[in-house]
Amino acid sequence: MAVTQSNVVTACKLLIGGKWLDSSTTEYGTVTNPSTGEVIARVPMSGGQDVDRAVTEAHKAFPEWAETPAVERARIMMKFRSLLETHYEEIAKTVTREHGKTIAEARASVSRGIEVVEFALGIPSLIMGQSIENIARNVDCETIRHPLGVCVGITPFNFPAMVPLWMYPVALTCGNTFVLKPSEKVPLSSCLIAELLLEAGLPDGVFNIVHGGKEAVDALLTHGLVKAISFVGSTPIARYIYQTGTAHGKRVQSAGGAKNHIIIMPDADVAQTVQAIQASAFGCAGERCMAGSLAIPVGKAADAIVPALVDAAKAMSVGRTDTGSQVDMGPVITHEHLVRVTSLIEKGLSEGAQLLIDGRNVKVVDAPKGFFLGPTIFDKTRPGMSIVREEIFGPVLSVVRTDSIEEAVALGKDCPYGNGAVIFTNSGRAAREFKHHFNAGMIGINVGVPAPMAWFPFTGWNNSFFGDLHIQGQESIYFYTQQKMTMTRWFEQTKNKFQDPIWKARG
Ligand code: NAD
Repeated sequence: MAVTQSNVVTACKLLIGGKWLDSSTTEYGTVTNPSTGEVIARVPMSGGQDVDRAVTEAHKAFPEWAETPAVERARIMMKFRSLLETHYEEIAKTVTREHGKTIAEARASVSRGIEVVEFALGIPSLIMGQSIENIARNVDCETIRHPLGVCVGITPFNFPAMVPLWMYPVALTCGNTFVLKPSEKVPLSSCLIAELLLEAGLPDGVFNIVHGGKEAVDALLTHGLVKAISFVGSTPIARYIYQTGTAHGKRVQSAGGAKNHIIIMPDADVAQTVQAIQASAFGCAGERCMAGSLAIPVGKAADAIVPALVDAAKAMSVGRTDTGSQVDMGPVITHEHLVRVTSLIEKGLSEGAQLLIDGRNVKVVDAPKGFFLGPTIFDKTRPGMSIVREEIFGPVLSVVRTDSIEEAVALGKDCPYGNGAVIFTNSGRAAREFKHHFNAGMIGINVGVPAPMAWFPFTGWNNSFFGDLHIQGQESIYFYTQQKMTMTRWFEQTKNKFQDPIWKARG
């Protein structure tokens, strides 16, 4: 079946029971192209009725899908993977159109998503249990992993294809059915990819999509047939999802926001470090939960690094991304977000930080209504300032100068988040100290964005994650399955089992 976007150009439909359906709501939001500000689709703001339809279909589809052998489930995912490759450019362009990433960033994000499918293809091995003979005399013991039932994914705007792909390939291959509620700001990529799941042969009702915001989310969090919830988004909502979901008896993994530290030691390679920080702070216009937004030079490191960072930022081109033109940075997601980031820059100035490069007045002549902001760097910032404490989620880098690695590491202790932290150094000793002591769950050593690939978990700490089992890697298999332990003893009924007629018949 050819992939068409006809169902998503005007108003997005819901995918329920294998069919694209209209929502029962009359309330619609809009999807905009951030490069131009133009409305490109309408999105239904579903309520409890749509959610109930989707969850009920997913629940109906569960028994047969759960009984489908793991190898057969994996084969469908293999077909899905190949379709993702075939439609790679189309997906990347859709991501760019609705989100504003450069096409290179969009492609990379699709590749990261495909890797999760590749991870899930190993399901027969990944899902294996354990067994032991004679754990007690004549008693054998084994564990087997079973799927949970209906699982739900609620996702943010910043990776329209990749973050949903963190979730459902694993959930589905484990034998669960799934209801996705993509961000209402970027629902188009998920609708496009869902067509590929159907084309790959996924049975009706195994994967469903509902749209909307809080009302849809609340209906999912409290629905009696939902077993597990995967969430990625901002910290206040992540906390709310965890608290509400668990209070309603769901298994929840809930990833939140971040403020990621980049420590630069005096012995770091300047050129490579600057290149890595530039990509980390300004890549995807800073709208990444692993974006490095605090540069923390230690001692004399600042002398070389700070001017070089300013030069690198000044050299970056900012522009529309939807026409395929080669720019270094695209727009931020919405006008409201542009206003928020701008107001945080103003707050930084009013709190006494020194603005080295100001992205507020960037002009994009061929797209005057786009939501553009240039790279922005503050120097002489101090702990306690809003731009140092708050997640900005835009292309703003704050430099906090420190005198020692201990002082730099201590900054992490005060940070309420704990997603990623990075050190640039040539000293194994400094790297080890940092790795051991820094208060964050994902560490980079001379790596600007230490976002793990699909085979490793996304191990945020503190207010960057609520739950026990993280997204991705083996932990995701544990999250989407429950164990059954079986203890077995067969009684000896005859003294000599070879007298038994069954054994005699076998010769
Ligand atoms: P968001 O929290 O505003 O929205 C995320 C999802 O929650 C959306 O689907 C949205 O519809 C829903 N939602 C919004 N408000 C809600 C409410 N009041 N009640 C219930 N549901 C609600 O996040 P966003 O702005 O779309 O995404 C950016 C955030 O996501 C940033 O904070 C970023 O750090 C974070 N993020 C974290 C990770 C990670 O792995 N930790 C990855 C990507 C993004």
